Amino acid sequence: MPNETTILVTGGAGYIGSHTVLALQDQGYQIIILDNLVYGHRELIETLSAVKLIVGDINDAELLNSIFSTHNIAAVIHFAAYAYVGESIQNPRKYYRNNVVGSLTLLETMVDHGVNNIVFSSTCATYGIPSTIPITEEQAQNPINPYGRSKLAVEKILLDFSQAYDLKAVIFRYFNAAGADPQGRLGEDHTPETHLIPLILYTALGKYSQINIYGTDYPTPDGTCIRDYIHVTDLAQAHLLGLTYLLQGGDTNIFNLGNGNGFSVREMIATAQLITNRPIPVLDGDRRPGDPPILVGSSEKARQILGWHPQYPLAKDILAHAWTWHQQRHGDRLR
Ligand code: UDP
Repeated sequence: MPNETTILVTGGAGYIGSHTVLALQDQGYQIIILDNLVYGHRELIETLSAVKLIVGDINDAELLNSIFSTHNIAAVIHFAAYAYVGESIQNPRKYYRNNVVGSLTLLETMVDHGVNNIVFSSTCATYGIPSTIPITEEQAQNPINPYGRSKLAVEKILLDFSQAYDLKAVIFRYFNAAGADPQGRLGEDHTPETHLIPLILYTALGKYSQINIYGTDYPTPDGTCIRDYIHVTDLAQAHLLGLTYLLQGGDTNIFNLGNGNGFSVREMIATAQLITNRPIPVLDGDRRPGDPPILVGSSEKARQILGWHPQYPLAKDILAHAWTWHQQRHGDRLR
């Protein structure tokens, strides 16, 4: 059914952004994507209908002004951010400039134009090393890297803005986004790739001779880090629910988005071996700076208030969908 509501999606050509655009498109929303295409992919978006792509930056106040002046935007879904932990340690100014100052520019423009609804991509990296597992939204936030600190800064700005102005925000703290569109239309493609699942699958495809395990001496049962992997399509559905919540008058709120199940690096590699039926050699390596040992979230609040129920909670489904995508996108090129 066509839907006249227009949504601005910043970073809509990125991994989680593009899957959310797909979900919005399936609901008939009108979509404007603002993406600087530094890490996003134009060709992913070009396959979608009802989508207008504006190539530009959230730091460009003039461009933002013209977008909000010429379109009747009901809400913003704000993904645009740099998200490499390692890079944020090497080059923090890039992270504070883009993630914090860019978000502030966006929020100021929204307030100036009376656009009052925003769904914001935050991260479990804002918790740092959690004191209890599963992590609930009330837990103290002590991020251990500049990326996490940049996201936490924006959370604080959003809370202050929603106190002072009419703005309402849904803040989503994602755990580890993973997988690909179950119909194979989209998937994960970062350059450079640093994420565990794509790197495991590249190894299965023969692009790399081995997957490096970053740390085998963590205080976990097999010594490798434990993460809560959440299917990207489930994240996209949460954004639809968050948007509906805001458009129906919901107040500013914060939600974790995870499955509540933790898998170690070794467990993910073993499951990938079963799914791909290919050898995946491993090399036990040193810890990567900035990685907490265990991140597993409670998403009870999102379930109860938004009615969110992940459809693909199993690691084997997440890996199978990612494997289909990677074979399709990279398999031929790598053979
Ligand atoms: N990891 C690994 N080898 C890699 C990439 C990642 O062992 O080549 C580990 C990493 O230390 C972390 C987990 O896999 O514990 C997930 O890392 P990823 O970069 O995918 O996501 P993050 O948790 O950093 O958001």
